[in-house]
Amino acid sequence: MASEAPRDKDDAAKGTPAERAAAAEHTAAEERAEALRREIAHHDYRYYALDAPEISDDAYDALVRELREIEERWPDLVTPDSPTQRIGAPPSAQFAPVAHSQRMYSLDNAMDLGELDAWLRRVRDAVGERECAFICELKIDGSSLALVYEEGVLTRAATRGDGRTGEDVTVNVRTIRDVPLRLREEAASSGPLPLPIEVRGEVYMPKASFERLNEANIEAEVAPFANPRNAAAGSVRQKDPAVTASRDLATFMYQVLDPRRLGLARQSEALDWLKAAGFRVNPDVVTCASAQEVRDLCASAVNRRNELPYEIDGVVVKLDSFALQDELGYTSKAPRWAIAFKFPPEEKTTVLRNIRVQVGRTGALTPLAEFDPVSVAGSTIARATLHNADEVRRKDVRVGDTIVVRKAGDVIPEVVGPVLGMRPEDAEEWRMPEECPSCGGPVWRPEDEAVARCTNVGCPAQRLERLEHWASRGA
Ligand code: NAD
Repeated sequence: MASEAPRDKDDAAKGTPAERAAAAEHTAAEERAEALRREIAHHDYRYYALDAPEISDDAYDALVRELREIEERWPDLVTPDSPTQRIGAPPSAQFAPVAHSQRMYSLDNAMDLGELDAWLRRVRDAVGERECAFICELKIDGSSLALVYEEGVLTRAATRGDGRTGEDVTVNVRTIRDVPLRLREEAASSGPLPLPIEVRGEVYMPKASFERLNEANIEAEVAPFANPRNAAAGSVRQKDPAVTASRDLATFMYQVLDPRRLGLARQSEALDWLKAAGFRVNPDVVTCASAQEVRDLCASAVNRRNELPYEIDGVVVKLDSFALQDELGYTSKAPRWAIAFKFPPEEKTTVLRNIRVQVGRTGALTPLAEFDPVSVAGSTIARATLHNADEVRRKDVRVGDTIVVRKAGDVIPEVVGPVLGMRPEDAEEWRMPEECPSCGGPVWRPEDEAVARCTNVGCPAQRLERLEHWASRGA
């Protein structure tokens, strides 16, 4: 069939139609992955370096997830600098760098119960017939912190940074009231303490303190923090420790390095040791003997979210036994022996394909966003009203944009806005048509009104809507 010889060996027109389609799909995926990587790197910088994110965590997670899915399907598209391969961000030059004695890992996520089950199965396969208990801790939405004690005295506090190198924030962390400057003697109950001791956990800002801080910031015309997590990270990374001291930070510690040196065999024992040593440990910890118990706990934990005075964004499930943890080990980014079960996202990203204009019973023209179907808070959505032309302009959404969508009040689909960095070059600003899309009649918008209308009373779309209204139960 092919009448034309390919011009060069890379010519995409070579091969069977199926091969050509696959090549085109690969190219499109490559371009999308590149755009996603650039965009994610931008948000990583805003989030980790500046503590000033531009988009919600849900929207960010959706971008990362899409990139991960592309990379899983086309492993040749994984690049060494891909955000899926890295942790956090390099430390800022504002603080002295700290080389972590052992890497500070991130956590792999289970975005739903199905992914949690898959992880539980993988663990079960690795552990075999042996007894294996899990420990479930709340996932505190703060910033990670590493504390080093020498001869029982706090000598250094560091942020996670990129996992290998963090930032020295010792003077700031000394001002946090619940961080012990000296370990309690009870910590040495099982003999002299090994040197040094490193403890890790989370520094966070309680919800009430976050609200107070932002009210004060707005009053002082300073940009408010996006959320308590960024407020905590930003407060720890202050030039002036007096500012950190004024910020009402708190900690929950959950890890001690080399626990076996202290005679600890399980995470549950390590948490008890941390308490005895004087650290604040989150009390909401549950040990589960079976995968089913873990599942039930994760499924119900979301109900706790609003009752707690601090933010949580999931449950961290860990193997309780350190011997089993060692057996499972780590990937390049996260331990295999733990998983973060994340609460269902309230926002997702998708691609806006069309803005269709609907004609109502009174001739009102309503722009309707039509996008690639996504599942949000338990149901699939593919359209959302944009209300009127002013709203489209205010949100500045354009056909082709990657957009953030959510369910307002958990019911009505809503377009939050575009991810500007991913806008296609040729995306055009949207305008209300000057003619009715149904009858071609003139469109009129009174100056003091937000709504444009088709002025043709005989407009077939209006008549249909009127008929439907007439026949409806409400009428
Ligand atoms: P993560 O925060 O999702 O999970 C890992 C972290 O959980 C650990 O480093 C630890 O600090 C913390 N943690 C809390 N409680 C814990 C416990 N009990 N046991 C163990 N660890 C516990 O991962 P990450 O790599 O720090 O960051 C990813 C998060 O940052 C995502 O939620 C993402 O949405 C957000 N983010 C958002 C933007 C944005 O622009 N909005 C940009 C970058 C990252």
